[in-house]
Amino acid sequence: MRFSKYFIPTIKEMPTQTDFISQKLMLKSGMIKQVSSGLFVYLPTFMRVAEKVCGIIKREMEKADSVPAKFPLLIAREDLEATNRWQSFGKEMFTLFDRNKREYAISPTNEEYACFVAQNYIRSYKDLPFSIYQIQQKHRDEIRPRGGVMRAREFLMKDAYSFHADEDSLDEYYKKMEKAYRNIFTKCGLDFVVVNADSGAMGGSGSQEFMALAKDGEAEIGVCGCGFATNTELLSEHICPHCGKELEILRANEVGHIFKLGTRYTDALNLKYVDENNQEKLMIMGCYGIGIERVISSIIEQHNDERGIAFPSNMAPFKANIIVINTKDEAQVKLAEEIYETLQDAGVETLLDDRNERFGVKLADSELIGIPYNIIVGKRASEGVVEFQKRRGDKLEALAGEILQKIQ
Ligand SMILES: [Zn+2]
Repeated sequence: MRFSKYFIPTIKEMPTQTDFISQKLMLKSGMIKQVSSGLFVYLPTFMRVAEKVCGIIKREMEKADSVPAKFPLLIAREDLEATNRWQSFGKEMFTLFDRNKREYAISPTNEEYACFVAQNYIRSYKDLPFSIYQIQQKHRDEIRPRGGVMRAREFLMKDAYSFHADEDSLDEYYKKMEKAYRNIFTKCGLDFVVVNADSGAMGGSGSQEFMALAKDGEAEIGVCGCGFATNTELLSEHICPHCGKELEILRANEVGHIFKLGTRYTDALNLKYVDENNQEKLMIMGCYGIGIERVISSIIEQHNDERGIAFPSNMAPFKANIIVINTKDEAQVKLAEEIYETLQDAGVETLLDDRNERFGVKLADSELIGIPYNIIVGKRASEGVVEFQKRRGDKLEALAGEILQKIQ
């Protein structure tokens, strides 16, 4: 993309309406625009990062044999009442009526309709396990939306639902999902801890939260050298229940949550399959969520400095930025265009900063947005020489022809 034709509305002053560094930097670097309480427009660079996160998730879901789908945003009141969730979610849900006075909620999650899919197509033990997922907008009527996209009224979630013939199959699949989640968060460059959690409103027999460490994280967790970790809300004292050592107390934000639901939903909806002995049995269920904005916020919480966002290379909205020092100089523009074409052809996501701005402004924007590599085209362009700089690293002279190799 050419910067002049793109849309990255960076702001000079650090925003003050939030305490969260990730939120400040997303606003300052032009990733998001707040338009109402808890409502945000995702701007182009945010979309690029979100695509990367979703790409990693999709590949891991495929490895875990989960199939992609998309559930409706609306769910009829009677379908949520069948599992008692109209009541349990209560005021957290947005609700509405159609013209015939039939009432709906905007789906908080999709256990019910995932069960409806399984009900119609999964009849035999031979069809199990079955796993289906979507990446879809979710809505929550927060009393006081704070923390920006971390606790917005509308957000993107990956939600997966698995169906099983017995507990052993659920246990095995749950472990597979735990591994998929570990892979996803590791590939996103996150430092995280997996804690045993309370199943809360979802119901069921077991759950784990994936907590990304953050200085101002909303949750407090206790971690022990023996591998034990927990949300401190579940403890009466800060002592490891396994080995008796004192827990290290850290702050973190939840980025993912996996649940063993058991028969909580399949019983309510009478979702059965036929086993080897031709007997009808209730299916057993698991569900698995990831908050996409929470992942992106957490990456920024963990990867930033005083100049801006220091995205890991695979998460940055662009991998390279070609900065033309003097856009009036023909040789500079020509060489920059050549490098731009070479990188684009090689599939390197490249920004070409062709704006008529001072070099300092362009470099500051590049460091704020979090682009890992800068290629600076200046005075020696006529000799085919440019400067190559890792974000905040030393400037090294390089021949234009060597750039691709240096980036890859
Ligand atoms: Zn311990």
